[in-house]
Amino acid sequence: MTTTPAELVRLTAAQMAAKLRAGEITAVELTQAHLDRIAAVDGTINAFLHVSAEEALETAAEVDKIRAAGGTGAQALHPLAGVPIAVKDLIVTKGQPTTAGSKMLQGWMSPYDATVVEKIRAAKLPILGKTNLDEFAMGSSTEHSAYGPTRNPWDTGRIPGGSGGGSAAAVAAFEAPLALGTDTGGSIRQPGAVTGTVGTKPTYGSVSRYGAIAMASSLDQIGPVARTVEDAALLHELIGGHDPKDSTSLPEEVPAFSEHARNHQLTGLRIGIIKQLQGEGYQAGVLARFQEALEALRSAGAEIVEVDCPSFDYALGAYYLIMPSEASSNLARYDGVRYGTRVLPEEGPLTIERVMGATRAAGFGEEVKRRIILGTYALSAGYYDAYYGSAQKIRTLIQRDFEAAFEQADVLISPTAPTVAFPLGAKLDDPLAMYLNDIATIPANLAGVPGISVPGGLSYDENEQGLPVGIQFLAPAREDARVYHAAGALEKLLQTDAEPLWAQIPELAETAGAASSSVVEGAN
Ligand code: GLN
Repeated sequence: MTTTPAELVRLTAAQMAAKLRAGEITAVELTQAHLDRIAAVDGTINAFLHVSAEEALETAAEVDKIRAAGGTGAQALHPLAGVPIAVKDLIVTKGQPTTAGSKMLQGWMSPYDATVVEKIRAAKLPILGKTNLDEFAMGSSTEHSAYGPTRNPWDTGRIPGGSGGGSAAAVAAFEAPLALGTDTGGSIRQPGAVTGTVGTKPTYGSVSRYGAIAMASSLDQIGPVARTVEDAALLHELIGGHDPKDSTSLPEEVPAFSEHARNHQLTGLRIGIIKQLQGEGYQAGVLARFQEALEALRSAGAEIVEVDCPSFDYALGAYYLIMPSEASSNLARYDGVRYGTRVLPEEGPLTIERVMGATRAAGFGEEVKRRIILGTYALSAGYYDAYYGSAQKIRTLIQRDFEAAFEQADVLISPTAPTVAFPLGAKLDDPLAMYLNDIATIPANLAGVPGISVPGGLSYDENEQGLPVGIQFLAPAREDARVYHAAGALEKLLQTDAEPLWAQIPELAETAGAASSSVVEGAN
């Protein structure tokens, strides 16, 4: 039985890998099906800033050649070899542009690959291209990209979450089965929640950050984006592990996460509801799906307890001091002299300060400037103790809350985001409203613990329009396997009619020929 290209792109990564191994499809066919899908729908979605068709097809052809030759070469192929992937444009790639969603890096080509990209290339996953994001990963809607917003495939008038909206939308719209994201305060999990996809923030230090453009180094973490928990686990297995090039990298082996994702046995698992992450500020539809998820877990044998994490009330405040402080330091290098585009002042003398000033004024967008100013202020002599110092103390208290909570529960649970995807533009003029989207995801970054977002069903508005709701699981540091176990089990429980949630995604009008100029080799 042949599989049509439309069916092919809707398979899970694990199914694609199985078909490749069985010789039922070729990697070139599979990659071409995704490139065609990108050409058809990305004019509407704008998930990609750069598409690397030629390179992807070359990698795919290599995989096919090795497989056709058989023998030890074919046996040595990585299980995901030939399964295409998209990479968030905050992660550097040799031979493909990296912009960080900023004008500052327009046209920049990294001379080296991030460690995760090296691993993907070694395993021969065809790289489809680079995905859109909020500038330097600052935002929750992908509207702060210098290259236009990405649209949510569930409703193209709505945001796909952020900062990794491009990766999440690409996976939700069947433009890629897998993608890489980065999560500093929720940028993998929150886009996962609002696009009905799965995203994991691994334990801090368990996936190399080498080659991820730094936003807030003590919070940043690269992680997998997929349509199923098993697929996310498989990608996590590939990208995880110790890296001598990252000084914060943990010296540990990568567990077989995908086995945990397939273990649906819940009896005896203690799941802690975080008292502080529910109720006020959360939409009724989000809370309804959350309650149903709890019910399903309870009936399947999990023990549901409530845990108290009082310091979480201050997490958002602490995050928005620590994150801008670190970002103000990390982004100091983009001055037109050491890094980045150079813009000359329109008039007056060409002093180095004036060139730097003109460059930073033109190269950075509003949100990035806001955070640089905030961070510089928080770190300034006289204010350091009051702001940055206090925020670090709260960070310690949050870590203690997690420690206490994990004595009572094996994993913690909450809604991933307080709302479903909101309309484009709705929060653009209100930074605080935008920041509130991260209320449930930020504590994990402050404590370095792993978290996952898994689809929890749809919330329906007055027009009967269904929008995805995400459920978040958190586990102690180094226990990422637990989030895969809990999320895998919930995914299975909620799949009542044997149809995954994403099978219900509305059909996108194919805008053949209208694909944006971004879908051109070499453009960005
Ligand atoms: N939305 C959060 C912020 O704007 C998180 C960003 C991220 O995780 N990269 O900072």
